[in-house]
Amino acid sequence: MSNIKTNSRLSHRVQTIKPSGIRRFFDLASKMDNIISLGVGEPDFITPWNVREASISSLERGFTAYSANAGIIELRREISAYMSKRFSVQYDPEQEVLVTVGASEAIDIGMRAILDEGDEVIIVEPSFVSYVPLVQMAGGVPVSVGTNNQDNFKVSAQQIEAAITDRTKALMLCFPNNPTGATMNREEMIEIAQLAERHDLLVFSDEIYAELSYDEQHVSFASLPNMKDRTILISGFSKSFAMTGWRLGFVLAPPDLLAAMLKLHQYSLMCAPTMAQYGALEALQSGMDDIERMKQSYKQRRNYVVKSFKEIGLDCHIPGGAFYAFPSIEKTGLSSEEFAEKLLLEERVAVVPGHVFGKGGEGHIRCSYATSMDNLEQSVERIQRLLSRVL
Ligand code: PMP
Repeated sequence: MSNIKTNSRLSHRVQTIKPSGIRRFFDLASKMDNIISLGVGEPDFITPWNVREASISSLERGFTAYSANAGIIELRREISAYMSKRFSVQYDPEQEVLVTVGASEAIDIGMRAILDEGDEVIIVEPSFVSYVPLVQMAGGVPVSVGTNNQDNFKVSAQQIEAAITDRTKALMLCFPNNPTGATMNREEMIEIAQLAERHDLLVFSDEIYAELSYDEQHVSFASLPNMKDRTILISGFSKSFAMTGWRLGFVLAPPDLLAAMLKLHQYSLMCAPTMAQYGALEALQSGMDDIERMKQSYKQRRNYVVKSFKEIGLDCHIPGGAFYAFPSIEKTGLSSEEFAEKLLLEERVAVVPGHVFGKGGEGHIRCSYATSMDNLEQSVERIQRLLSRVL
């Protein structure tokens, strides 16, 4: 580890962290014209007007001060009611709900709240690119468990158990998954819940894509028997409410864990932006039809993309949720980095090479289908052209 240190002005810890592999591609793409991007992980919808209006109205009424550290109580109550209604989990708005600056902050303070130096966190991969660095920045050690195409990128309790050591403190799960779109049903989750109980693990369950579950009802990890007390449930407004730029998420956890996270949150962030919280309140009070409308639109695009990839000869498991397809490009003989670079330079389509998402990602590309049908149709044509040259 010590040979990594090259700049004495910077902490050793920060220098051990690798820059995100996604960035290199966006830097390349940003210098090119006429790119179709299937790269970014965000909705192509603008936040519904009533939500924007509620936020504007909060400013007009002069609500420009800090809010309570944990978030305005009206929003915490709404989050609690929403999670109960949609996902059958019960959380006390006074003690078990914290409004954060995106789900990103929730993951960060969650890790910092529970990890001591050297504690291990099992991360089911391919995964969202922030988990590994946030574990490392909290002094923990990430331990990868890879999933694969043949298993539809689901993880089994046996795979996780094989990675458990006496330093394992927590498990990081994310279903529906970024980048694979994989989902897990109740029976599959219960095996993991029993394992968590046997080994006394805390479980981070990143459920930010819960509303975007197309084929089955999403099962919240915290709703499984005995799991609430060991689950740190992370979610937010970025994806299903189309609110990425508002920077608003939330974390739900038992009171002792939540109090520790609140301590970190109040010293580093103070509170989430007040005007954004008023927007989110409106989104929860009257945004369910909008969520459904956007979900149906993503579903239609998912069906198109998966069918089209199959037609042009790309093996693609059916992603049950989120807005990503994760086809295999293995048969081209190219690495995911080489394939993505060729696709960008020769056909001007930006995707993300699968290896940046960790174990199990190599041999795949992540294609976000949260873009117009026109863009999707053109991308399929362009990918087909590249395939015809490299196969
Ligand atoms: N978790 C997952 C799985 C994500 O894909 C993302 C965003 N790409 C986040 C968390 C972070 O979301 P937020 O905008 O709420 O910080």
